[in-house]
Parts: sequence; C-alpha cells; structure tokens
Amino acid sequence: MQMEKEQVCPYCGEKMDPIRTPELSSWGGEIHYVCFNDECTYYKNSWQVLDGQGIERTGYRCRVDPRGVYGPMAVWSSDALKNLKCAPPAPHATAK
Ligand SMILES: [Zn+2]
Repeated sequence: MQMEKEQVCPYCGEKMDPIRTPELSSWGGEIHYVCFNDECTYYKNSWQVLDGQGIERTGYRCRVDPRGVYGPMAVWSSDALKNLKCAPPAPHATAK
C-alpha cells in the first residue's frame, strides 16, 4: 500500500481533488482538497445561501486543508478553480 489518503467529500461522498493554493494567498501554496462535484449538495445550496446574504453570483465548494479542517472555498462559476487541480502530493515525484 502506497496510498496517500484520499479525501472524500462529507456532503456527497465523491472523491475530492487536490489543488495547489496560490503561493501568495494566506495558504501559501499548501495542497488542499476540494469537492468539484457539480451535483454536491453543499455546492448546490451554496449559491442560494450566499444569495440570501446579499452576495450574488458566488458559491462555495467543500474544501479540506492539510490539517483535515473543512471549510468553504468560494467560487464564482462551476469552472472556477478547476485550473488549480494538481497531482496528489507524492512522496517521490514519479510525476506522470
Ligand atoms: Zn461534495
């Protein structure tokens, strides 16, 4: 077994994708996992929740940081942040 542990979204049960956070953000380039399932209830409800708070055209996806803390990751479209997806952090970079 050489699995890095997979993160599964607590809301929809889908596998979460690793993303590399921007170096200049408060996360400083850490690898976070985000649920990119467009059918995820957490994500689908987020638009309405924020709209109810007067924040238009913004939603959020479920995110978990390297310490296992869950939180929302704001998105502005269903494609937002998907370009940040990266390969899972590997012990040895056998990148492919
Ligand atoms: Zn989900």
